[in-house]
Amino acid sequence: MEIRFRFQYLQNSDALFFPEKGRVNDSGIILGKHRIDYDNIADVEALETQLAVMVSKPSYLDDRLIIHITDGVVLALDIRGGKAEELKRHIKQVIAARGTEKKRQSLIEAGKENLFRIENCPVCGAIIDLSELGKSPYTYCNSCNSIFNDRQQVVADGRRYGICPQCERFDRISKYWEFYFTFLIVVYRFSYEAHYLCDACAHSMFKKTLLYNFPFLIGIAPSLLIEIKSIIGRDRHLRQLAKANALAIKGKHIEAATMYEQMQEAYPQHPGILLNEGLALLEVRDEKGALACFQHSLNACKNYVPAQQRIRRLQPS
Ligand SMILES: [Zn+2]
Ligand SMILES: [Zn+2]
Repeated sequence: MEIRFRFQYLQNSDALFFPEKGRVNDSGIILGKHRIDYDNIADVEALETQLAVMVSKPSYLDDRLIIHITDGVVLALDIRGGKAEELKRHIKQVIAARGTEKKRQSLIEAGKENLFRIENCPVCGAIIDLSELGKSPYTYCNSCNSIFNDRQQVVADGRRYGICPQCERFDRISKYWEFYFTFLIVVYRFSYEAHYLCDACAHSMFKKTLLYNFPFLIGIAPSLLIEIKSIIGRDRHLRQLAKANALAIKGKHIEAATMYEQMQEAYPQHPGILLNEGLALLEVRDEKGALACFQHSLNACKNYVPAQQRIRRLQPS
C-alpha cells in the first residue's frame, strides 16, 4: 500500500520552502529524496493539516532532514489535500503491527509465547498488543484512541471522543472556530481561530465569545453555533459528561461524582469516566483519591494510556 501526498516542512508552525512530494509505503516515509525507516519512527500525531513525526534516532537521518528537526526528535510537516489524519492512522497501524511482531519474537525466544496476546481495533483495524497484560473489561486503541469492550462493542469512538487538549478530560472533542468581530469606528475587523475542544470547554468559549461579540451583533451567530454544536449529537449515555466535567472544574467534585456514577450504569467502569473522576479529586487536591481513580481506570482498561500518564505524573519513578 502506498499513500502519496504533498508537504512542506514546518518549523515553529510556519511553512518554509515550497511544497514537495512525499510517499508512505512499506519501507517508511519518503520525503522528497529522503527516507525515514519505520524502525526510526517512535510515534506520529496529526492535528488539522499538520503531521508530527517523532523520530527515535535523529542522527540516523540524512543531514538535509536533520535541519528540519525541532525539539531534538520531532519532524513537523504541513500535509496538503487533507491527508494528515489518513497518514497518521496508516503509520500508527504499521508501527503497531511491527512492534507486535517484535514482541512475539522476543516472547518466543524467552519461551513465553503463551503470554502473547493481541486484539484488533473494531474502529480502525489496528493490531493492539496486549501481551503480558492481564485481561480487563476494556481495551484501548493507541492508533485511533477508541475504547471497546470484550465483545468488541465501542464505548468511545476515538473519532469523536478523547482527551481534550485544553482541560485534559475525557469527553467528546470537536473542532470549533473562535470568532471575534470588532467595529472600530470606520473599519470592520474580524478574527477567528480553530480549536479542538471538549463540550465543557466549548461552552466556556461560547460564553467568552458571546460576551465579547454582544455589542457587535454580527459575531453572535458564530457564538451561538459553538453552543449548539457543543450540545447536539452526544452519545446518549454520556449526555451529562460536559456538565459533570464543568462541575468538576469548579471544584464541585461531589456533584460531579454523582453524575459520573450515573453514566457508569450504561458503561460500568468506563476508563474515561473514571479518569475524569480522578481529575475532579485532583481539583480539590485529593491526590490519594485521584490516584485510586486512575488505578481503577487502568484496571478497567490495562492499556489505557491517559490513565498510565496520570499515574506516572503522580508517582514519578
Ligand atoms: Zn483503532
Ligand atoms: Zn476541555
